[in-house]
Amino acid sequence: MSRSHTTSGGNLATLLAEAAADAPGRPALLHDGQRIVYAELDTLAARAAGALRDRGVRPGDRVALALPNRPDFVAAYHGALRLGAIVVPINPLLSEREQHERIADADARVVVSGPLDGAPVDGVAGITGDDVAVVLYSSGTTGSPKRIELTHAGLRLNAEYVAYDALQLHKDDVLFGSAPLAHVFAMTGCMNAALAARACLALVERFEPHAALDLIEHGHVTVFMGVPAMCVALLATGRSAPLRLAHIGGAPLAVETLHAFEERFGTTVLEGYGMTEVGGMATSNHAGRERKPGTVGTPAAGGQVRIESNGTGEVLLLSPTIMRGHDGWLATGDVGYLDDDGYLHLVDRKKDVILRGGYSVYPREIEEVLFAHPHVYEAVVLGVPDERLGEEVVALVVPADPACDPVELQAYARERVAAYAYPRRVVLVDDFPRSATGKILRREIDREALRTHS
Ligand code: AMP
Repeated sequence: MSRSHTTSGGNLATLLAEAAADAPGRPALLHDGQRIVYAELDTLAARAAGALRDRGVRPGDRVALALPNRPDFVAAYHGALRLGAIVVPINPLLSEREQHERIADADARVVVSGPLDGAPVDGVAGITGDDVAVVLYSSGTTGSPKRIELTHAGLRLNAEYVAYDALQLHKDDVLFGSAPLAHVFAMTGCMNAALAARACLALVERFEPHAALDLIEHGHVTVFMGVPAMCVALLATGRSAPLRLAHIGGAPLAVETLHAFEERFGTTVLEGYGMTEVGGMATSNHAGRERKPGTVGTPAAGGQVRIESNGTGEVLLLSPTIMRGHDGWLATGDVGYLDDDGYLHLVDRKKDVILRGGYSVYPREIEEVLFAHPHVYEAVVLGVPDERLGEEVVALVVPADPACDPVELQAYARERVAAYAYPRRVVLVDDFPRSATGKILRREIDREALRTHS
């Protein structure tokens, strides 16, 4: 991949127009069997800008996009940026109350929920790199959502970094884009990185593993972008399809899944670690460098990582792409450590660490052990209130097989983790509460109902 595309000057609003000038006839989007080339997508964005201007949108106004992963999203997003407006993507899978909360908090002038078609707007409003381009709300797996303002310079840098450095995308790549564009992983990692690379983004409104595999085969997808739960679901189909690369992030990826995925799809899995606060990727295993399964790689986009204390502790991040209004190191709420080669190992979320008696138990470690058992489809380990110990370790398991036996699973874990850490109870469940992006919402699991009396 050539770096000659880096002409940004920190402006996200010119990304699409530059791609269209550079590669007008190349496919930019694939949706529902239709290809849209760059020149056409650029026109759609110019027309969306016209329609927004007719609806009174001026530079600095907030435009909420309540749209699924369709070409209208891409056109409205880049159309609004062209006017100098600030985009507020809203995941349409959120409840109505959650959507309204965000729209009200952002004070959006317009809410877009369908295609926009007006007289095309030429050119791009005067914008500086420090101007806010996008307002996002962190997915809030541990608390109520927080408003995060991301700048033109930060978002453009992150997208270009993903495209050129971390994943080294080619212009003939086709990226699988089913993670919601309203979330930073897909917004930067799929949509804007694909534009930066002049690659094609295959847009999928809702993930379904068989349909995904059909698209990978027939749409000639080369790069799978997704969250670990998608990998698990694709593996469970028993099917295969050729992939050049897979970039997985957003939640912990079990090493077992990584290896199984690589083997089945004949591909390389690069795990990354991102967050809304940095507008995309924070660290990643990089194409062209050693990739280390079980790690989230090395810092991305000119950032730095430090651990709060010696050894294992809270991960602190310094990044040029960090949200506006934040100076210095960002406390991520994630716990991890750096190995001798500077690769980051994430151990858990700080709030998920279980304090059992005098011991810290990292749920993820036990989840990985359970996950390696062939009868386990998914597992969540958490601390439940316990009179004597403060917290007790309980595992909730979604079985992969009707023969799944909680007693056997407990014995299996007991042989493999510390005596203080194995789950004292294993409970079989059908599924877990999840956020609109598919992340498991641990805080919504009723811990009181699982209370133990030791
Ligand atoms: P969000 O801002 O919604 O993207 O959530 C960011 C959080 O997702 C991070 O702080 C991590 O807790 C989690 N996360 C992202 N990528 C990974 C990963 N590869 N492994 C484990 N957790 C991750």
